[in-house]
Amino acid sequence: MNAPAPPNGPLGSRTEVVGALHLHTRHSDGTGDARTLARAAEATRLDFVVVNDHDTLAVRAEGGEGWHGRVLVATGTEITAEGNRHLLAHGNATAAGPYEFSAAEAFERVAREGGHVYAAHPYGRGLLGRRRTLQDWPDWDHPGLAGLELWNYLQDWALGFRWWQPASYRLEEVAGRVQGPPRWVLDLWDREAARRPFAAISGSDNHAKRPPLSTAAFFPHEEVIGRLVSRVRLERPLPADGPAAARELFAALAAGRSLVAREELGSSAGFDFRVQTADGRAIRPGEEEGSTSLAGARAVVESPREAELAIVSGGRTIASARGRRLEAALEGNGPVRAEARLDGKAWVFSNHVRTRNG
Ligand SMILES: [Zn+2]
Ligand SMILES: [Zn+2]
Repeated sequence: MNAPAPPNGPLGSRTEVVGALHLHTRHSDGTGDARTLARAAEATRLDFVVVNDHDTLAVRAEGGEGWHGRVLVATGTEITAEGNRHLLAHGNATAAGPYEFSAAEAFERVAREGGHVYAAHPYGRGLLGRRRTLQDWPDWDHPGLAGLELWNYLQDWALGFRWWQPASYRLEEVAGRVQGPPRWVLDLWDREAARRPFAAISGSDNHAKRPPLSTAAFFPHEEVIGRLVSRVRLERPLPADGPAAARELFAALAAGRSLVAREELGSSAGFDFRVQTADGRAIRPGEEEGSTSLAGARAVVESPREAELAIVSGGRTIASARGRRLEAALEGNGPVRAEARLDGKAWVFSNHVRTRNG
């Protein structure tokens, strides 16, 4: 007998939600709290925010996780593992101190608690830090890693900012410096996804820091968090129970049921990527299809606006064209995904459609 479906939350029967991930509050090195973030999300028309304070679940401990009006605040942590490796944990039950565990130990702990771990900002750099490279991260092939933060907005900006150029800090200058994930990060993502589910998520990494003696926050949340988002397809509407809703959101993200979109360039609403099998079924990212072969199937991408579309299979671009729709026949069994650019700027990355044997 099936249990009755839990009552829907404030988003009603909607099964597509949009939100900002990897946000900091006053409990780590940012400002504000769950309520501030929910207000910023409401102003930016986001449905959810994910808080990843450094090594603390204080937002949850003070009751901040759950629905704030129509906005879901979901919590995890940004784990500082040995070697100063930053990991984004979703849905973990406990927070350890910085450097307390190796990355591998952190993966295991969070998995035991029913959560998921992603590699944070594989590229980019901190404000005055050096560039991050592939060598900073020896744990890519660890099976406990659920995926990666494919695109981190502020770290991406920091790559293009110059501390000796004061204009670099101006909010109006930020968008012009954001580039999108570099080739090596996309290659690594495709390579891992060929072996196991390996989901991509977006990250704002916004802190809304308040400099000493200043009354205004630097990069206020409401100005930044709507710029780069994850658009998530849920299997069912989010429930009224806040912590349960957060768990369902996290499960959908870990399954790869989302796309990463730089919404400030244009809304990705209506963007669709699917594989049409020879027998007429549509498989979307995160809907893993047993041992089904993708051979003979067609990949289809549809965009709400004209863009430079591409279909990438097994790390190779198999079709690209400017338009609102692109199709390609699939040959191998590799994971396949779509990407879109607007005037040469990275805009949307779908997650992969993959088979269990692919
Ligand atoms: Zn970090
Ligand atoms: Zn962070």
